[in-house]
Amino acid sequence: MSQARLAPGVAPGRLTPAELAANFVDVAPPLDGHEARVAADRCYFCHDAPCITACPTSIDIPLFIRQIATGTPDAAAMTILHANILGGMCARVCPTENLCEGACVRMDAEGQPVEIGALQRFATDGMLDQPHPFMRAAPTGKRIAVVGAGPAGLSAAHRLAAKGHDVVMFDARPKPGGLNEYGIASYKAVDGFAQAEVDWLLGIGGIDLCMGQALGRDITLTQLQADYDAVFLGMGLAGVNALGAEGEDRHHVTDAISFIRDLRQASDLTALPVGRDVVVIGGGMTAVDAAVQARLLGAENVTIVYRRDQSQMGASRHEQDHATASGVRIICNAAPVTVHGNGAVVEVEFAYTAQGPDGLRLTDDRFRLKADQLFRAIGQRLDGAPDAVALSGGKIAVSGPGRTSVAGVWAGGDCAAGGDDLTVTAVAQGRDAAEDIDAALTGRSIEIPG
Ligand SMILES: Cc1cc2nc3c(=O)[nH]c(=O)nc-3n(C[C@H](O)[C@H](O)[C@H](O)COP(=O)(O)OP(=O)(O)OC[C@H]3O[C@@H](n4cnc5c(N)ncnc54)[C@H](O)[C@@H]3O)c2cc1C
Ligand code: SF4
Repeated sequence: MSQARLAPGVAPGRLTPAELAANFVDVAPPLDGHEARVAADRCYFCHDAPCITACPTSIDIPLFIRQIATGTPDAAAMTILHANILGGMCARVCPTENLCEGACVRMDAEGQPVEIGALQRFATDGMLDQPHPFMRAAPTGKRIAVVGAGPAGLSAAHRLAAKGHDVVMFDARPKPGGLNEYGIASYKAVDGFAQAEVDWLLGIGGIDLCMGQALGRDITLTQLQADYDAVFLGMGLAGVNALGAEGEDRHHVTDAISFIRDLRQASDLTALPVGRDVVVIGGGMTAVDAAVQARLLGAENVTIVYRRDQSQMGASRHEQDHATASGVRIICNAAPVTVHGNGAVVEVEFAYTAQGPDGLRLTDDRFRLKADQLFRAIGQRLDGAPDAVALSGGKIAVSGPGRTSVAGVWAGGDCAAGGDDLTVTAVAQGRDAAEDIDAALTGRSIEIPG
């Protein structure tokens, strides 16, 4: 093994450019035409298909699979995109094993579902190089402000633009896409797919982007209410939770999301530093993505430590298996109590946990893990929500299709209460709120698939 690979501390260049390029290839390469036909032929085209019910955007899955099977993939793409305008990204990132593929009757019968995600990708990828296929309705003269250009905001903006409204999107960051651009693991959306999809989506017209504009810093809700006919809040969860462990302010203790963001934005992965011994605290997709990508960057030992049972991890079984197959160790039922070190983290001390009458408690059974880099991946929280909107459980309270407590203001995606913090749910909520906004502004009826 090379010396660079085993360099102590947090160091760049553990792997060669060739090794990094090989490590960060597409985790699920696309199907070719023949493979797609074979995969489509496995579908029973069920009546009352359970896969549709399991899809938060209610895509007519048997219909689009039949369209692939009959050699009309562009028609399949339109079936998908009509329900889910970010169908290309969802095909790459949806935990399909918990959604459509988990519900597929072939899964029950044979333990091998129809490859719905891969087929969706096959259909939608073909559409990306073509002119934008949706037409805008006649102008309504209404203007709508969308805060946050992530999946929820983009989905809402596209649907509103299609209805003939003019949309202005405000986002705190320099690039649109939200976590599609800054959060999703690199190997799930390679070759700049997130930006390509946003550019394609904006091809509908009628959507202006105001990047670097944060609600609460550069703009206020009162201003937006005065200037626009409706406001949609899709600002995600910008805050990250602290560990609450002694010594967590030591160097190289950071939140996993910043690490993933830097990785996604890096033009040269050899320049990105990573620890030799990396510990990640958490049990969700963020923990898995940070851990796997630390390994792919060349970290020698990567351990995820989760405070509950493995069955309670937020990351799906598929994601957990992906982590362990990548060489990540998962320790469950343990929580960090002290971050040891002198300036920078050197070791993390954990206590095993046990379920008590008042919930989870720390036991006296302790152990330590060597760590020169520690990532927190224990959840995000809403930051910067306008004071006027009511919250529920720390998120924006909504009723029906995203109506907040303030008339004329809707919300959806991760920032809204009641969702499950997935890309596809954000897309569904943005779409449904847009339909409700349109109905409120024009009196037209709502068109939601499913
Ligand atoms: C590391 C990580 C990996 C993930 N992997 C997956 C996955 O594989 N599959 C999956 O289905 N889901 C995944 N998720 C969850 C998924 O990314 C989110 O559920 C989804 O992005 C939510 O969309 P959103 O539009 O609500 O919010 P976001 O994507 O967070 O977008 C919110 C946007 O609002 C902007 N914003 C924030 N505050 C303000 C403000 N005050 N003013 C203006 N703009 C603001 C942000 O800059 C951002 O662009 C992952 C999440 C993380 C953190
Ligand atoms: S449940 Fe499976 S077999 Fe049935 S329509 Fe859906 S994808 Fe096809």
